[in-house]
Amino acid sequence: MLDVKEVKGTQTGSGLIFGHPSFADHEQVVFCYDKNTGLKAIIAIHDTTLGPALGGTRMWNYQSEAEALNDVLRLSRGMTYKAAISGLGLGGGKAVIFGDSKTQKTPELFRRYGEFIETLSGKYITAEDVGTSTSDMVFIHERTKHVTGLPENLGGGGDPSPVTAFGVYMGMKASAKQQFGSEQLNGKRVMVQGVGHVGQNLVRLLTEEGAIVTVSDINQENLNAVAKQYGASIVAPDKVYEQAVDIYAPCALGATLNTENIGRLKCAVVAGAANNQLADENEHGRMLLEKGILYAPDFLINAGGLINVYSELKGYNREQAMEHTRKIYDTTLEIFAKAEAESLTTIQAAKAIVEERLASARQVKA
Ligand code: NAD
Repeated sequence: MLDVKEVKGTQTGSGLIFGHPSFADHEQVVFCYDKNTGLKAIIAIHDTTLGPALGGTRMWNYQSEAEALNDVLRLSRGMTYKAAISGLGLGGGKAVIFGDSKTQKTPELFRRYGEFIETLSGKYITAEDVGTSTSDMVFIHERTKHVTGLPENLGGGGDPSPVTAFGVYMGMKASAKQQFGSEQLNGKRVMVQGVGHVGQNLVRLLTEEGAIVTVSDINQENLNAVAKQYGASIVAPDKVYEQAVDIYAPCALGATLNTENIGRLKCAVVAGAANNQLADENEHGRMLLEKGILYAPDFLINAGGLINVYSELKGYNREQAMEHTRKIYDTTLEIFAKAEAESLTTIQAAKAIVEERLASARQVKA
């Protein structure tokens, strides 16, 4: 199903997968196709050194197969980082399903997808992500036990988004401590971009503490409802970056920060839920540092959802998942200290810790 012509344009080396710019020593990439249900999916298992690869399934109307492949390769690598930095016994994986999540979902499609997951014998465990929900996981569960993010009646923890939002909030408080000298967010101006599952829970936590919140979303209905409920101001999606705020929280899709808009930022901290917020981790991590903007690494502070679904594997316990997520505060401060001491960007510091953990686990295994 891979379209050779589409992928060619993004290659640097030779070959479609191994020479792909986003290929990062992935262990396994599985292409799933089913004519009857219309299922087209890619499962990418990045690294299983620390345990089975757990990561959500995204359903998205990709413009090309190259775009989907790039997304799944990048996202699965991010899951390895996220699990390792959070001290979880998990590897990194992710999956994408091609299609419009509003019009193309069917129970049969998810059941068939569950059968593909089952063939991997637990090496990959799925959960919900953008475009999929707890109810979709129930259909997958009919065909495989290697699925989390299940409703409470099936032993799951339900929607992980409130826990993700709590982790982002913890990371944001640590960032405030580092940048402003106090973890208090009372009176701090925060721009939340994207008020979906995570964003609206974050807005709730922020307004409960007395932060002054501005929101933006391309879904006008959702945006108006959240703004009304929490008394937040609204800005248009193209005005997000130049807002004079203390904290910018990207909670929409990834790669929102690039060379052009980092120049326009007027915030002191970037701390949000979106995966892969920096279009180029090295270049844009450095640009933020040089601008004096503190960046809380996304894969660290958005790990609450992963921590929550990980808890399902051992018998779900909400309190324990929240306690584990609370530790994001301390880990964030540790990474800021390492970055400062070693003149690294915060993302480099976080990745260095991950690489150390993976290297020592590999040594033990060898
Ligand atoms: P969601 O789909 O519920 O919400 C995303 C929101 O962003 C939607 O309301 C959408 O309309 C909005 N949006 C899209 N493009 C936008 C733009 N250009 N400007 C403003 N708003 C825009 O997704 P979610 O579950 O809330 O996740 C948000 C982000 O956090 C995603 O990047 C996701 O990968 C990441 N994340 C989520 C979880 C989780 O537990 N849900 C965990 C870790 C990371």
